[in-house]
Amino acid sequence: MAIRVNPGFIDVLDRFGKENIQLCYQCGDCSAVCPHADEFNRFPRRPIRQLQMGLEKKLETSLDPWLCYYCGDCSDLCPRDADPGDTMMILRRYLTSVYDWTGLSRRFYTSHWWELAAIVIISILIALLFSVFNPHGIVTSLTSEGGVKVNEMFPVETVNIGAHIMLISIASFLVSNIIRMWYFTILKDKSLKISFISYFKQIWQLIVHFATQIRFNKCKDKSYWIFHWVLMSGYTLMFILIVGNLKWFQTDNIYLWYHPQRILGYYATFGLFIGLVFFFWGRIKKAGQKFKLSHFSDWIFIVLLFMTTASGIRLHVFRIEGMPVATYYSYVIHMAVLVPMLAIEVPFSKWSHLAYRPFAVYFSELRKTAIPIGKRESIYKK
Ligand code: SF4
Ligand code: SF4
Repeated sequence: MAIRVNPGFIDVLDRFGKENIQLCYQCGDCSAVCPHADEFNRFPRRPIRQLQMGLEKKLETSLDPWLCYYCGDCSDLCPRDADPGDTMMILRRYLTSVYDWTGLSRRFYTSHWWELAAIVIISILIALLFSVFNPHGIVTSLTSEGGVKVNEMFPVETVNIGAHIMLISIASFLVSNIIRMWYFTILKDKSLKISFISYFKQIWQLIVHFATQIRFNKCKDKSYWIFHWVLMSGYTLMFILIVGNLKWFQTDNIYLWYHPQRILGYYATFGLFIGLVFFFWGRIKKAGQKFKLSHFSDWIFIVLLFMTTASGIRLHVFRIEGMPVATYYSYVIHMAVLVPMLAIEVPFSKWSHLAYRPFAVYFSELRKTAIPIGKRESIYKK
């Protein structure tokens, strides 16, 4: 079968981040040192070669970039300073845009203004919805008396409908993009015959790798795994509490500190806060290879998460202290940051790697089950 080459592919990739791909002379040291590469997944050298040759269609079907955990060992060792670890990161951004059928991921990753404009517009709409169009009139609530009544000002039934609409929208975009990932990486390859039963047999890979991110364990620096996991667990728990269980989480009762509602809320906040301190510090100090080059999308994700966490803490403190007006305004600010953060980051931007990576591990294991032992070498050499 003829292989199509796109001579301008490197220029396309340039728009997803700075890269030094032309410096690479294919010595292969990076693949030799990578703790995640194996006989089937020969990265980063193989995808770099495909990139240099303009094999766009080949790269679209590749799982290699997702199997890299950006430990940076390859970049430390590269004799040409080609920064292969960063190239894997850039390829992940590119593949996110390939899977996303709306085209928004490509816009957000290649234009700061698109992402900023989307965040600001959603933020303003949410602020207007919760304040100006609120039938209870938060704008005139400066004379509010009688304690904090969050559920009177923002009825949980109504807010919950909005949370469910958002949940369904985010899930629809993300799931449809994951189906496209499956199409590109499994279905498109006609040489792969995967039995139906293998999909069930290997499903544990998806669950384990989403819940533990255990492959980070292979990297020399374990701290990244720990802080990444703490941040992700806090984020996921907060998402479940706010988007999935708002009626239980948003109450006017102030429970004692050991009530499960408060314990879970505190853990989620703690996880987010600790993780964010680690990532802010690493990116500001450029601590190690993985923090050396921060893309705009890396910054915007942690800034939005920080603003969400900080506005959530402020809202909680005002509510506990019985300050109604401050609580209501903090609620509006919290929602105006939280909603764009979820709506943009989860399906279209940085957060989506948390979903794509465990699926890549799952698909990679499925691909192995499809290949007869004696033919593995020839298929993976392609
Ligand atoms: S990226 Fe560097 S280490 Fe890897 S093959 Fe190219 S020159 Fe060698
Ligand atoms: S950054 Fe680490 S995991 Fe990624 S390709 Fe390089 S050595 Fe492998």
